[in-house]
Amino acid sequence: MDNKVSTLLNEQIQKEVYSAYLYLGMANYYEDEGLEGFANWFYVQAKEEMDHAMLFRTYQINNGIKVKLLAIESPEDDFKAFDEPLRKSLEHEKFVTASIGNIYAAAMEVQDYRTLEFLNWFIKEQGEEEKNTGDLIKKFELFGHDAKGLYQLDQELKARIYAAPSLVL
Ligand code: MG
Repeated sequence: MDNKVSTLLNEQIQKEVYSAYLYLGMANYYEDEGLEGFANWFYVQAKEEMDHAMLFRTYQINNGIKVKLLAIESPEDDFKAFDEPLRKSLEHEKFVTASIGNIYAAAMEVQDYRTLEFLNWFIKEQGEEEKNTGDLIKKFELFGHDAKGLYQLDQELKARIYAAPSLVL
């Protein structure tokens, strides 16, 4: 496999683990604030991000690329407002979308069709991640600024359950 493509794939493991770490920190923040539904939503999000990391790891192993685990920095986990993690996670998802797009472009350049096929799932997944986070921000803007609305939104977010990724390698 092309060197640039394999390096970027390897770096993506770190970005996905960092995403899990970031969302776990946000879950911890909401737990601390007594918003268990928001905490649950971010906890599920963190688990999904770990799945993404494992998918990149498995893909590399399946293609004979040596996996090198890079350092994970400590994420921000102290926020000033309940909607701050929501906005920051949308920003972060856009960063991840760009990162996956960057790998896609590198794979296209060397006509690495197998990697492109692998990345297609993530391209679609990133669209969903941005939509889900964007929807949550909209809901917060509508209902999150009074106590009753916030309580109900928190109850609703308790219902989110973890599902394993639809991509199996
Ligand atoms: Mg991800």
